Amino acid sequence: MESFEESDVLIVGAGIAGEESALKLADMGFKVILIEKEPSIGGKMILLSKVFPTLDCAACITTPKVSETARHLNIKVLTMTEPESIIHNEDNSFSVTLVKHPRYVVEKDCTGCQECETVCPVVVKDQFQFDLVARKAVYIPFNIANPRIALIDIENCVLCGACEQKCPSSCIDFTQEDEIINYKVKSVIVATGYNLFDPKKIERYGYGTYRNVITSMQMERQLAPTRPFNNILRPSDGKVPDKIAYIFCTGSRDHSVGNPICSQVCCMYSSKQAQLLMGALPMADITLYYINVRAFGKGFNEFYIQTSDMGATYVKGKIALISEKENGNLILRYEDFKTGQVTESEHDLVVLSVGLIANPAIKKVFKNANLEIDQLNFIKQTDLLQNPALTSIPGVFVAGTATAPMDIPDTIMSAGAAAAEASGYLKRRQ
Ligand SMILES: Cc1cc2nc3c(=O)[nH]c(=O)nc-3n(C[C@H](O)[C@H](O)[C@H](O)COP(=O)(O)OP(=O)(O)OC[C@H]3O[C@@H](n4cnc5c(N)ncnc54)[C@H](O)[C@@H]3O)c2cc1C
Ligand code: SF4
Ligand code: SF4
Repeated sequence: MESFEESDVLIVGAGIAGEESALKLADMGFKVILIEKEPSIGGKMILLSKVFPTLDCAACITTPKVSETARHLNIKVLTMTEPESIIHNEDNSFSVTLVKHPRYVVEKDCTGCQECETVCPVVVKDQFQFDLVARKAVYIPFNIANPRIALIDIENCVLCGACEQKCPSSCIDFTQEDEIINYKVKSVIVATGYNLFDPKKIERYGYGTYRNVITSMQMERQLAPTRPFNNILRPSDGKVPDKIAYIFCTGSRDHSVGNPICSQVCCMYSSKQAQLLMGALPMADITLYYINVRAFGKGFNEFYIQTSDMGATYVKGKIALISEKENGNLILRYEDFKTGQVTESEHDLVVLSVGLIANPAIKKVFKNANLEIDQLNFIKQTDLLQNPALTSIPGVFVAGTATAPMDIPDTIMSAGAAAAEASGYLKRRQ
């Protein structure tokens, strides 16, 4: 017979939403299990540069919260862990089966010294730098990862044993396997966040073919304190770009790619990146091609105007086609909405302001209850106006961008609402 350890709340996803809900509930005295499928907690926010509209450093805001989450006595954090099944029991509790994937490194013994990385012969694209640079098969995900523990990407490892010989703590362990962990909880919060739109779906932009067409997330990494280079470089030849274009609404407000809605943050994060680029590369021209600028939040319109006043050029126009010149520069063909003319312009780097799309995979984990999703595949909020954290399953709440695209302040408010709803629910059960 399987044994189930008891806890109050399971939170799935340790981005800023999951962390915020976990901290709120843990401070109220509830016991929280917070699971994250990646090797570090922090979600997308820990990888950002600065945040609009205040230009505070994202890492400086988020790392204290990440540390507090990791150390809180009422929160148990499990990284590299995903839910396999969640069963809604007759007594309204949930039986949860989790799978913790192996790091092939004994977590308690790894000191994060990175000696193993120096000898590993395997070089693969670094997913935490969005493929801008490479990493080894044994690696620490990024400088401010929490926990700062190595893992082995076993699919690419050639099992040469060099890391095992080098590790001063003898903590490489190739015998590790998936671990099944069972819990019985009274409530669940879904904080599984969003996925980035894949710009390869818009072939005419040439992402994946033209090397100097990158995504906004790749630019975030180049601007972040934990950046791969100490400069902004275009991928084809490492040249510092001096004529950069942004294409807003890449994969948002576009029926042809199945995503008719606005991603809420792209106008603002592109304007933020433009400001940061004007600081980093004072001689560079930045042009932002938009359909409409949506600057609806507190201080957002002022931020947009400030970006324009600093020298960025906003062009209302829809990009029809990008083509590549021999020198790697890109020709943008677009309709200028102001003149009605089809126009061309040349840039040496193009940044696609990719949208935020739904991550509905969690639905299938609920085996005997229907976690409803909306027509765009986000988790359905069954009482959007009065209780936005409620889902179709009693006792299951939703937080952050799992419900819809939103910025960090709105994510934090949504996570607070989910924690408040969960705590009320738990108190009513006592
Ligand atoms: C390029 C870019 C720049 C941005 N800049 C800003 C900015 O300047 N200011 C601002 O306010 N907002 C900005 N944003 C938006 C910001 O990223 C989001 O508001 C915020 O990260 C949402 O947090 P979240 O916790 O809801 O989601 P996420 O950060 O996506 O976190 C969800 C977490 O859940 C985990 N997860 C998913 N499924 C599972 C599962 N089945 N099991 C276990 N774990 C799971 C994921 O691995 C992830 O860690 C930007 C977005 C982009 C794309
Ligand atoms: S065993 Fe694998 S991870 Fe370790 S050094 Fe060799 S290739 Fe790298
Ligand atoms: S696995 Fe060993 S060598 Fe690698 S970071 Fe951990 S302690 Fe250092």
